[in-house]
Formats: sequence, structure tokens, C-alpha cells
Amino acid sequence: MGTAGAMNGSIGIRPAPLSASVPNALRVTPPPPPFFARRIAFFEAELAELRAYPRERLAGIVTGIGFACDGCARCCTRQSNDHVFLLEEDADRLREVAPDVLVPAPDPELADREGRLYVSGYALATTENGDCVFLENGRCRHYAARPAICRVYPYMLHREPGADGRVDWRQLAGLGKHGEYDTAIPPEEAGRCADETIAYEAAFLEQMIGFYRAAADYFAANDLRHVQKVRDDRLRAHARGEPLELLVYHRGRFEPCRVEPRG
Ligand code: SF4
Repeated sequence: MGTAGAMNGSIGIRPAPLSASVPNALRVTPPPPPFFARRIAFFEAELAELRAYPRERLAGIVTGIGFACDGCARCCTRQSNDHVFLLEEDADRLREVAPDVLVPAPDPELADREGRLYVSGYALATTENGDCVFLENGRCRHYAARPAICRVYPYMLHREPGADGRVDWRQLAGLGKHGEYDTAIPPEEAGRCADETIAYEAAFLEQMIGFYRAAADYFAANDLRHVQKVRDDRLRAHARGEPLELLVYHRGRFEPCRVEPRG
């Protein structure tokens, strides 16, 4: 991942102009274009599934696995994770303690015909070897301010395809690859893990829904459409050494960022 800096200011979401002759009571927000509507519907369905998942089931899985961190710090390296995605709360908190460590998350979701890319949030920067920028001598330099995903890891609660292609719930990352197992976990600790994991996953899905809603409004107001080929071409050009212009979603707005290629 290259280095990046958020430039001053942000681009507000300008609603599409409405006819002055239409009374307020009759004005309706137009539905998002089909591409955006499908993405929003997908994340809303995932959120509904998450909210229906019994908290006690997850707490039972936490107890059954009995995971205990052994401090290997593998989860803070590229060996286990290629980036640390930041919720909006994380980004706000980390801007207070270490503003230079925020970079646009990799894999921007959208591109317009002008070559601008749009991404759903920030991530933590990494070092040259891909480790988290906060990792120092096997320890987190900002443990108290660490992002939400680091607080709940290795627990998760989302649905994804397994090796057989069947979509099912996944509750633990890297099973058997780190940490210790079969340790005794008190019920209140298991319940706390379950609550924090569910809260993280809900916040992530809400951020994705917010991103696609804001992008739908912004694209409609500026007569833009998503062009997948532009996205792929720009990412290939970046890999060859060109800078990347991005708009990063944060708190309902898009913040312009420029990512220089890693030299
Ligand atoms: S923020 Fe801290 S805990 Fe999270 S990946 Fe980086 S070093 Fe590890």
C-alpha cells in the first residue's frame, strides 16, 4: 500500500436539484440507480441476518473454542491480515493520536468516468514489509486506542462461502493458526466478546450502507455512473507507479486523498 494523506476539506453530498415548483410535501427522494440499490439491499440483508443471530449462540461458540491470545502478534502482520479497516469512530479517534497513519482502505469499490475512485473508509497504514504501522517489537504502540477490529479479533460474525462454496456463518479467524485453545472462559467474558463482535459487525455493515447511499446521491447529483473498467485500469496504473486519486467516505462525506506509489 502506498502512502497517502487526506487533503484539506471534503466533498459534501449534494442532493440532486429539485424543481422549485414542486411543493415540499410532494417531494420524494428518487430511488438509487439499480447498481447502488443492489449493493445497498445486499448489505441491508446482511445486517438483518446479523441482528437475527442469537447472541447466546455466539457466546457459546466463544466458550467452546476457548481461544486465548498468546501474544504472537501474527494478526498484526501481513502474514495474517493485509490491512486493518477502520470504522468511522476508529478514524476519528486515531486522527487525535496519530493522524498520519490513516490511508484509504485498499480495493476501492467505485470509480467514475473521470478516473476518481471511491472507497468506503480508511485503513491503518502498513510498513514496507506489510506489518501494521503500530506494531513495534511485537507489541502495539497504541494498544489503548487500537481499532475496533483489533479489539474483537479473532472473533467475527459474518457470512461467507466456505471451500465447498456454501455460504455460512464464520465466527473465528485463523482457527488453529495462532493463540491457544480450550482455555476456560467465564460466561460474562464470553457474553462480552459476543456483544462486542456483533456491535463491530453491525457498525461495519452500517458504514457500507452509508457509503453506497452517499455514493448513489453523489453520483446522481453529478450525473456520474460507476465504471468498473476505469476502476481496474486506475488500479493497474497505480501498481505500475502512478499516483491514485481517491474519495474516501467518512461521516456522510467524501474526503479527497492522493496515494503515491510506494517507491
Ligand atoms: S493497531 Fe495494534 S493491535 Fe491492531 S493490528 Fe496494529 S499493532 Fe496490531
